Amino acid sequence: MAAGPRQAEGDRRGKSLKLEQSFGRVAQSVRALRSHRKGHRFESCRVHHLKYFMENLEEQVKLLVELQALDTQILKHERDLVEMPENLNRLDELFKSKMTNLKALEDGVKALQVKRKDRENDLESKEGSIKKLQSQLYQLKTNKEYTTMQGEISRIKADNSLIEEDILKIFDQVDAENVKIVKEKEFLKGEEVKLSEEKRKVDEETKRIGAEVDVLKAQRNALTEKIDKKVLAKYDRIMKSKDGLAVVPVTGESCQGCFRLLPSQVIHEIRMKKDLVICENCARILYLEE
Ligand SMILES: [Zn+2]
Repeated sequence: MAAGPRQAEGDRRGKSLKLEQSFGRVAQSVRALRSHRKGHRFESCRVHHLKYFMENLEEQVKLLVELQALDTQILKHERDLVEMPENLNRLDELFKSKMTNLKALEDGVKALQVKRKDRENDLESKEGSIKKLQSQLYQLKTNKEYTTMQGEISRIKADNSLIEEDILKIFDQVDAENVKIVKEKEFLKGEEVKLSEEKRKVDEETKRIGAEVDVLKAQRNALTEKIDKKVLAKYDRIMKSKDGLAVVPVTGESCQGCFRLLPSQVIHEIRMKKDLVICENCARILYLEE
């Protein structure tokens, strides 16, 4: 148990040293310049170096916080730029499927009309048969023949009344379907207006957000110029592995990346401002809000 924190402290010291080395080159040139100008002896330059590094670390953390804020906005915009057309596509697909349903309703009505026409033709030919039989009735010689033909005529008439019922039913069905079609057409007309309005909005938003992303990226470029390359590389690595969140504040002694309570030693280290402090749980860069 005791070996753990000691080991971690050793790691942190190692990190601190590496970072110090990364600032070393800049510090060296500043040191040389100042020594040259003011004629400082080498010993006093160590103090300069440390002071420069500490001031610089505080500044670097501030820049990282700014960078994170910019990247969070850029990532959100970029997600929107992907999601907006996807949502629009879904609405478009839904509209198309409703149009297909409408077409099916209309085709159904057409099929009913064809069926009705068939039944009407049936009826007409059967009416013709009745007329023909009736005209033949008076030419018949026997009562039996007469009764048989009357029976035939009655049978056809019974058939015809069934056909007429069918035709009326089809008329009712067509009426009912037409009511549905009119309603659906009205509804889809409204949907089409909404959809084209949505398309217009998405176009506008895409342009607006695209322009905003360009501005934010320009700001980002200017900002990264001021950040130490090694610090920036570390930030970029964490951004990639931690879903776009690399720098998080400490609130109420908790890391706001993973919401774990942080050991007081870690908070102390952040206050010391000697090195970047990383959350041991989620590996994000920690800072204290002022
Ligand atoms: Zn964390």
